[in-house]
Amino acid sequence: MKFLVASALVLVGSCSTVRHSEKIENLKESISYEDKSTVENYLKTINAEELKTFVEEVSSDKYEGRMTGEDGHNMVCDYIRNYYKDLDIAAPESHPDYFQKVPKEALPDDLNASQNVIAFIEGSEFPDEYIYIAAHSDHEGIVDGQIYSGADDNGSGTAAVFEMAEAFKVAAEDGNGPKRSIVFLHVTAEEVGLHGSRYYTNNPIFPMENTISTLNIDMIGRVDERHEDNEDYIYVIGADRISTELHFVIQEANSNFTNLDLDYKYNEDSDPNRYFYRSDHYNFALKDIPVVFFFNGEHEDYTQPTDTADKINYQLLEKRTKLIFATAWYLANSPFPIKAEII
Ligand SMILES: [Zn+2]
Repeated sequence: MKFLVASALVLVGSCSTVRHSEKIENLKESISYEDKSTVENYLKTINAEELKTFVEEVSSDKYEGRMTGEDGHNMVCDYIRNYYKDLDIAAPESHPDYFQKVPKEALPDDLNASQNVIAFIEGSEFPDEYIYIAAHSDHEGIVDGQIYSGADDNGSGTAAVFEMAEAFKVAAEDGNGPKRSIVFLHVTAEEVGLHGSRYYTNNPIFPMENTISTLNIDMIGRVDERHEDNEDYIYVIGADRISTELHFVIQEANSNFTNLDLDYKYNEDSDPNRYFYRSDHYNFALKDIPVVFFFNGEHEDYTQPTDTADKINYQLLEKRTKLIFATAWYLANSPFPIKAEII
């Protein structure tokens, strides 16, 4: 009798396992790039030289380490805004100067008011559905007389967003603009506690319920100790927590276009570093939006004044930016929006 019961349980178990793996297979098969050569055309506009120019600018001494609320950070926000103006990428209608003011009350005690910088390209078919590409613009400022340049953290993310914005803009000019709207979001006050993204998600410019996904980039220009012998990698964190589909979209983007080693080490919920909770995507996740965090891991110059532009691996930054662009392309152009659902 006991044996029979055990067999029945095994049978039930294996049936449900099959059903689950079939669901996953079906989901994976549903994700494909119909327009691979079109995507490749715009991937070509993302290049190491331009990324280098942007990282060098953002991390230069004149911005004094970009401390939230200080002159240096306000200046870099002006630079970011001017970048979009020069490319003729629009500001949101409700915020025609590209700035969402983050009031002093929304920030820790001793900080001045600051701003998120927001630009967007309106979708051609589903303009009321939004994909965010986000990176924080602030850093540590000047500490003990030393400027914290933050080239990797987060000059690399800022540069990546710039290059993707340009690629989407060029595509739009060719008549290949995104079907969904893409929001380029440069949040403030990340280093002092994710305040800029918290303010944004509590005071969104576009309805949160129409947000399909948020891709957050924070440090993607360096190589950590674990990967010294295999630098073609990126940590992918959190994609499968709200949307199994997003997890596989990134894999499909990678296998079609970039072939990086997607490292899920820090995606484990048990990981003691808890990176999932430590950058701006987390505030979107709290609103049940499918998010992903792209990250290169920590290195010897992390939160040190020595995080400088000359140490960035620009070829790698290019490759990682291409992965994120290809992911965003799919999310913006797929026939149906990805589902916020775990399978
Ligand atoms: Zn950061």
